[in-house]
Amino acid sequence: MKDKKKISGLYRQMLLITILPLICMGVVIMAFFYKGFEASMQKEVKNEMKNMAFSIEEAYDSIYPGDYRLVGENYLAVVKGESVLNGHTGYIDSIHKESSMEISLFYEDARILTTLTDGNGERIVGSTAHTIVINDVLKGGRESFYPKADIGGSKYFAYYKPICNSDGSVVGMIELGKPASDIDRMILKAVLPILIIVAAATILVAFITFSYATGITKTIKTLDNSLNSIAAGNLTSDMDAQVLKREDELGHIANSIKYMQKELKNLVEQDALTGIANRRSGEKYLRSLIKQSAANGTKFVVVIGDIDLFKKVNDTFGHEGGDTALKGVAAILKKNVKKSEMAARWGGEEFLIVFRDCTLSLAYERLENILEEIRNTEFDYTDRSIRVTMTFGMQEGSGDMTIETLVRLADELLYKGKQNGRNQICTSDLE
Ligand code: GH3
Ligand code: MG
Ligand code: MG
Repeated sequence: MKDKKKISGLYRQMLLITILPLICMGVVIMAFFYKGFEASMQKEVKNEMKNMAFSIEEAYDSIYPGDYRLVGENYLAVVKGESVLNGHTGYIDSIHKESSMEISLFYEDARILTTLTDGNGERIVGSTAHTIVINDVLKGGRESFYPKADIGGSKYFAYYKPICNSDGSVVGMIELGKPASDIDRMILKAVLPILIIVAAATILVAFITFSYATGITKTIKTLDNSLNSIAAGNLTSDMDAQVLKREDELGHIANSIKYMQKELKNLVEQDALTGIANRRSGEKYLRSLIKQSAANGTKFVVVIGDIDLFKKVNDTFGHEGGDTALKGVAAILKKNVKKSEMAARWGGEEFLIVFRDCTLSLAYERLENILEEIRNTEFDYTDRSIRVTMTFGMQEGSGDMTIETLVRLADELLYKGKQNGRNQICTSDLE
């Protein structure tokens, strides 16, 4: 009946369908935020570079008015207007200091002024631009942005702006580079608080979901244990109060199980007509009492009682009238035994009574009172009343007797009472 594998499977499934999607969602949200910031940061950097390149171009035009050209026999120098540009890095150096950007000025595809230095601290003047840049910027004549450009062996976010002479021809370009690691750091710094909040929220929600799933699975396990216990014949086990208190469907199932257990207990242990214990629970009770008596000498007295001339009651009042009398007698018997004692319908119009923790004479006295009450009671049936008497056989019990012997002896005494004229208590051990 019990299938532990299935139960742990349910637990795993619950965690899978709740926490896994949550973690996936957290990762997607974090990736989404990261990508979003990366894109907007790149855009921002691009605009900054674009403005910077524009200012540099304007500055050069105002400091050195005129066109760019090469001078000297072997084109050794670049001149703008009347001034030689080569070696005059003061302006771009000051901008580099302020912005931490690398700035280069190209005449055609060659770097003539630059803030970029090699391992020895030498400016890498004279180096040429990448073919892609030459094609895009010099030949294509359009500004270009490269998010991961290789400049002098390092990764840069690079921006190129073509420089034109007064006739509109492209003579060179301005290159601005920001180290890629700087940009990555900036993105991470901006995104980190959000990533931490999303991660914390994901962990929190995952924890709540985990606790909830654990609670549900635990409750289902409790219900399963209860059902298994009922299936094994245990009709007295208690359901966890916390589960019964739940106001959801599981709480409802728990209450239904409890109700079912109670109904089953009644069905198994109660007599359907009179509502008192049936023969099965009478025997069960006696069996355990004999055991107890054998163990600690508990005193008990067994009585079998039979309604006198009951056939006549049925004949006179009909079967339903007989049932009314049976119910009335049962109620009197039940009322007169203690909680620790037993009154059961033994079959037909026969009843079992067990008195405990009392002497035979005390039991006799109690039974006399019961018989007197039965004699004096009128059981109302329609507009008539039914009166009955009973005969009882009373046998003192002991731990070394079997249930069969005890009942047989009580039965024999009952028979004796019937023979003796009914409406009496018959016991062998008392005068
Ligand atoms: P005695 O004093 O010798 O016991 O006579 P009696 O008529 O009571 O004995 P007998 O055993 O001949 O009859 C018992 C009757 O009880 C027969 C049966 O129809 C009736 N009886 C048994 N069970 C029920 C029941 O559940 N309801 C009703 N109404 N009658 C029942
Ligand atoms: Mg009878
Ligand atoms: Mg009988």
